[in-house]
Amino acid sequence: MAERVYFDWNATTPLRPQAQQALQDALARTGNPSSVHAEGRAGRHVIEQAREDVARLVGARPVGVIFTSSGTEANALALSPLIETTGEKRPRDRLFMSAIEHSSVRAGGRFRREAIEDIPVGADGRVKVAALAEALGRASRPLVSIMLANNETGVVQPVAEAAAIVHAAGGLLHVDAVQAAGRIPCDVAALGADLLTLSAHKIGGVKGAGALARASDEIHFADPLIRGGGQERGMRAGTENVAGIAAFGAAAAAARRQLADEAAEMLALRNLLEEGLRAFSPQVVIFGTAAERLPNTTLFALDGVNAETAIIALDLEGVAVSSGAACSSGKVQPSHVLDAMGVSPRLLRGAVRVSLGWTTTEADVERFLGAWRMVSGALSKSSKQQRGIAA
Ligand code: PLP
Repeated sequence: MAERVYFDWNATTPLRPQAQQALQDALARTGNPSSVHAEGRAGRHVIEQAREDVARLVGARPVGVIFTSSGTEANALALSPLIETTGEKRPRDRLFMSAIEHSSVRAGGRFRREAIEDIPVGADGRVKVAALAEALGRASRPLVSIMLANNETGVVQPVAEAAAIVHAAGGLLHVDAVQAAGRIPCDVAALGADLLTLSAHKIGGVKGAGALARASDEIHFADPLIRGGGQERGMRAGTENVAGIAAFGAAAAAARRQLADEAAEMLALRNLLEEGLRAFSPQVVIFGTAAERLPNTTLFALDGVNAETAIIALDLEGVAVSSGAACSSGKVQPSHVLDAMGVSPRLLRGAVRVSLGWTTTEADVERFLGAWRMVSGALSKSSKQQRGIAA
């Protein structure tokens, strides 16, 4: 049987070899990083090295990085009305977020539902900056959350432009960079982000580690999600996941070193894949192509082909892809991202996401295209038959 090919890197990535090594080394250690003896200090050293590497990936200062259990937790930590900056302790009164955020941002953190407002996106999948400017005129102390790149379409958001508007309105900006980090340059200062979320398993680390990078250590939370032993400067209590953090740091260092080469390779392969798709299925709609996209992501639909059926059929052919919609519990939900972009419900149900990574090869792309030819041909034929149209 042919080897399987993996095209779901936006869901999770394989461990990078450097991360695997760091993980194994850390697992062999005993010390609690809060202990003062040599074993404890060795664990602390591992964490602080990783903090430097994670900070460097996004141009932050190590002191600004708070390790969490996931990107989800970092988002939840960030979205608090009680974010304080030194000398400024009045609560934030409103949270504005783009309509295409990940569900962990859409959940709104510790803001009341009534205090949350959506900012629309255009048909190109980019947040409407003019609508943000208008909305911010109605708030006195806003917090704004805009992702750097969307997990479904890969569309890169106008974050730096939004940051200027947010700061002029006296607001703070949180940026979910979970999908962008390691794939496009991502610098806290250049983006104008006050807070930035990362997740280890999207850059070659392990699942279950994340970070919230603060542009300045003057930003802190009066209401951390987890209180207790005071770890992570009192903002995330609990004995640290030393091995997960060590692997996160190693993955971040490798991702930073290899970013330019990996991005160029992924882009060439993604272009090849899209050319192949268009050649075989001229009616295919590829979403977000009017905007800048991540080099590794393509989200497409073919009228008459249902995504769930296509994904199962591709899986049987040995090809792992996902639907555009998040499918957190194995259930495929209609995509709120495509819905916000004004895509018709019919097409929206057909969205298939193919995401590439640093081990993807031209042969993998050919395997995908071969499988797609078989599967899409069979599925659109049966859909036409069901609708009584001669195939
Ligand atoms: N934000 C975005 C844009 C994501 O794509 C994801 C995961 O898919 C997350 C946040 C959540 O990260 P984690 O899986 O580490 O909780």
